[in-house]
Amino acid sequence: THDIHIIGGGLAGSEAAWQLAQRGFRVRLSEMRGGGDMTAAHNSEGLAELVCSNSFRSDDDSKNAVGLLHHEMRAFDSIVMRAGEIARVPAGSAMAVDRDMFSAEVQRMLDAHPNVTIVRERIDTLPVSGSTIVATGPLTARTLADSIGAATGQDSLAFFDAIAPIVYRDSIDMDICWIQSRWNKRTAASNEEGDYINCPMTKEQYYAFHEGLVTAEVTEFKQWEKDTPYFDGCMPIEVMASRGVETLRFGPMKPVGLDDPRTACEEFPQGRWPFAVVQLRQDNKLGTLWNMVGFQTKMKHGAQVELFRTIPGLKNAEFARLGGLHRNTFLNSPLVLDRQLRLRGAEHIRFAGQITGCEGYVESSAVGLMAAVMAASELAGQDFSPLPDTTAMGALLSHITGDAEAASFQPMNVNFGLFPPMHDVKKKIRKEAYTDRAKADLQNWLVQHGKVSEAA
Ligand code: FAD
Repeated sequence: THDIHIIGGGLAGSEAAWQLAQRGFRVRLSEMRGGGDMTAAHNSEGLAELVCSNSFRSDDDSKNAVGLLHHEMRAFDSIVMRAGEIARVPAGSAMAVDRDMFSAEVQRMLDAHPNVTIVRERIDTLPVSGSTIVATGPLTARTLADSIGAATGQDSLAFFDAIAPIVYRDSIDMDICWIQSRWNKRTAASNEEGDYINCPMTKEQYYAFHEGLVTAEVTEFKQWEKDTPYFDGCMPIEVMASRGVETLRFGPMKPVGLDDPRTACEEFPQGRWPFAVVQLRQDNKLGTLWNMVGFQTKMKHGAQVELFRTIPGLKNAEFARLGGLHRNTFLNSPLVLDRQLRLRGAEHIRFAGQITGCEGYVESSAVGLMAAVMAASELAGQDFSPLPDTTAMGALLSHITGDAEAASFQPMNVNFGLFPPMHDVKKKIRKEAYTDRAKADLQNWLVQHGKVSEAA
């Protein structure tokens, strides 16, 4: 007998199991590795295995969004942070770990916990009743993925992420770019001025840019990514470019219907169409993040930064995330999950971890932590009062469960672009200001909810 069933003993599932067990709930944790199954990326049977790098990224909690997430997770006595400290290896201001020791420590703590039962089994369908957290990650087993797809609608479950770079709005040079929708078309949801930021290119700039695209260094697909049959419809920009020098000018870079106001003259009072255009579209409700439309790419990160900064108006662009294309199972969470990570229409099921559309070890663990805190409130018959969206966990959750644009939803690391903006604070000290505000608001929340005393 158990109070809650957690499916998936990766980062999110292990964190959720720990949080619930520590609150006195009996957890059944189902993990398919060790029961005759394996994923294409995992190598062991260990819980919370780190499949690639051994880093939890920056541990600087004074001005870095992921460092702030570390701070917040420690405030909730996270098992990932605890085991991370024990397995920590030197890595400057980053937090890196011995991956085997880390996984073994998570495993040891959960094995030893009287409220946790670890079962090595693969779950193939979503449970029809009983409190459940699904944390099966980017490589969710196919049968369960089908069951999830049936519950959410296939269109709301992706098997690949095709990420176009996302740029911080305040790093775009609006003396060069302008805002306008093609042919000035608009919908009820449109902004007054238009919905796209347009970066104009001359003929010379376009041909140079095209050359850069087709010669850029790319990351190769791994065999198992090539084998995944879901790849249609998310063609990398450099592949499209390789089909012909004009292809992009009739695709994502087409200039028709876009009047560059800086070329206005008597003949063209609104301005002329440039030779080619790179368009950016708003990516979150706060308007702080904009994605480069159609620019999903396998180019190496360094090559992306170098080439995309040659786009007029993006010379000083700062990227909230760079483009990529990976095998990744994730939900269109803004559409199918409620604010408490529950599946709409089947509220006994919560999702956690990367399958919710966050990205990264720390983020996945943090969403596992939050799912557990929410489930614990529910099991105890209490109302859950959400974390302020000024905190890293609150901002990440708000993004996943509603603030991101559902139409273009793609996985996201935590970053300050997800936080309510502080325009009045000088840019130079803004990161510190975001962090200070988050820490103060988290402390208030913890005091209000009896998690710590005021003096703590
Ligand atoms: P996971 O840690 O993958 O855990 C999910 C668990 O569920 C697994 O143990 C799996 O075996 C189990 N499972 C799946 N289906 C079932 C089922 N039907 N029944 C029972 N159990 C099931 N992030 C980083 O921060 N840094 C990186 O370097 C990095 N590299 C990555 C490399 C690859 C190849 C991939 C795919 C992802 C990478 N990520 C990285 C992204 C992501 O942060 C990690 O995948 C992270 O492990 C996600 O945590 P999770 O708990 O959501 O999923």
